[in-house]
Amino acid sequence: MKYVVLFGPPGSGKGTQSENIIKKYGYGHISTGDVLRAEMANNTELGKTAKDYIEAGKLVPDSLIIDMLAKTMDSFADAKGVIFDGFPRTVAQAVALKDMLAQRGADVSVMLNLIVEEQELINRLIERGKTSGRSDDNLETIKKRLDTYNEQTSPVIDFYKEDGKLANIQGMGSIEDIFASICVELDK
Ligand code: ATP
Ligand code: MG
Repeated sequence: MKYVVLFGPPGSGKGTQSENIIKKYGYGHISTGDVLRAEMANNTELGKTAKDYIEAGKLVPDSLIIDMLAKTMDSFADAKGVIFDGFPRTVAQAVALKDMLAQRGADVSVMLNLIVEEQELINRLIERGKTSGRSDDNLETIKKRLDTYNEQTSPVIDFYKEDGKLANIQGMGSIEDIFASICVELDK
């Protein structure tokens, strides 16, 4: 079973490329952002807690995210593969994921790092904000999310590099071309 970490800054196309991977490879998928938004929509305790962090462009605390992940891991037992979309976002989360998989005799197969220039990210997220209805897709929050990414999330790249799992993917260009680069890595 393949365990794929789909990584990149906000707006790098993780959600879009996850859909392509699911269609072609039939993998299971977990987007921590999607789970948190569903919790917010249902006004659960977790959703209420997450809302303040998300709208401030900050990360939701590791303990909450790791609990969330642990609860869904077993639902993938029969999948051909699993895509982790938007997780891990801190080195602590990456370590927790490695432990969770090790308990199942498994490990991350590859970390796909989508590389996109910052101005392009801002343009995409502002464009998405016009229709997404997401309370974090506005210029002020976008800038904070990018700062959070640079400070807390980008060190995750080195974690996977040292672990021999890093695959850089050019994340600018057509969705089809980017997906083709992803397929090259997944087919290895
Ligand atoms: P993309 O557009 O590439 O899918 P994104 O940054 O727009 O990425 P999500 O992955 O949906 O969006 O995350 C939205 C917000 O949810 C984050 O800004 C963060 O506050 C919170 N979040 C999601 N995943 C995590 C995580 N693993 N750890 C902490 N907070 C998270
Ligand atoms: Mg997303």
